[in-house]
Amino acid sequence: MPHRPAAGSSPTALADAFSRGHIDVVDLTATLSEATPVLPLPPEMAAIPRFRLEQLAHYDDPAEISLQNAIHTGEHVGTHFDAPRHWWSGRELEDVAAVPARRLVAPAVVLDAVRECQQNPDFLLEVEHILSWQEQHGPLPDGGWLLYRTGWDARSHDQDLFLNADDAGPHTPGLSPECARWLAEETNIAGLGVETVGTDAGQAFRFDPPFPAHRYLLGAGKYGVTQLQNLALLPPTGAVIVVAPLKIAGGSGSPARVLALVAAPAAFG
Ligand code: MN
Repeated sequence: MPHRPAAGSSPTALADAFSRGHIDVVDLTATLSEATPVLPLPPEMAAIPRFRLEQLAHYDDPAEISLQNAIHTGEHVGTHFDAPRHWWSGRELEDVAAVPARRLVAPAVVLDAVRECQQNPDFLLEVEHILSWQEQHGPLPDGGWLLYRTGWDARSHDQDLFLNADDAGPHTPGLSPECARWLAEETNIAGLGVETVGTDAGQAFRFDPPFPAHRYLLGAGKYGVTQLQNLALLPPTGAVIVVAPLKIAGGSGSPARVLALVAAPAAFG
C-alpha cells in the first residue's frame, strides 16, 4: 500500500515542481476515432473490431439533457496496452486489471531509429543497436520503458500509410527475434513502447518464432504499448511516463492514455 503522508505535511517537491511549471506533460496518445487504423489479421484469426462511437443521447433532442455515447472497440485498437495475458506465452500472467499501478508510472528512454526506418521500412532493431545506445546514454531503466522511435507516428492518420502493406503483407519496423528475446530475458525493462500498430514488425508473422516481441516480452511478464506519438518531444533519458489502460477484469489489453512527464526547459534556466 502507498504510504499516506502525515496531515499538514509541507508541499512535496513533486507538487511544487508542477505548480512552478517545471514539469511539462507531453501527450503520447493518438486520438481514438472510427478512422483509427487497425491491424488486419490473417483470415484464420479473429479480426480486431474497429473503434466505433454510438450516440445514445444528445441534448438537441428535446427529451434529453445530456450527451452520452456507447463505445465499441477491440482491446488492441489505437494507442493501447498489451498485458502479458494477451499472448499464449503469458497466459498464466497478469490480465490488464492485475497490472500494478506502480508498474504503470515509470522512467522511459527513447531510442531513435527514424533514419534507419526511412531507408528501410522493414528495419529491425538488433541487440547491438541497444548496446550502442547504452554506451551513449547509460543502461536501460530498471523497471522502465524502452520507447522505440521510428517516425511511424507521422503516418498514423492514414491506414494505408500506417500499415504500409503490399502483396507480401505489412512493412513496418520492429525487433529482430534475438533482440526481442534479449530484451525479455536479459533486461529489467517494464515494457516496450512503439509508434507502429503493434510491438512486432509488419513481417513478423514470417519470423522464427513468429511475433517474437509478443512471445518473448509478454511471456516474461513485460508489457507493450503501441501507436505512440510525439516521442520526438522526449529527451533520450529522463522522462517519466504514465501508461493508463482501462482496468478491465480479464482483459488482454486496452486502449490507453499515455502521458510523459518531462522537466521543462525553464527548470534548467
Ligand atoms: Mn496489442
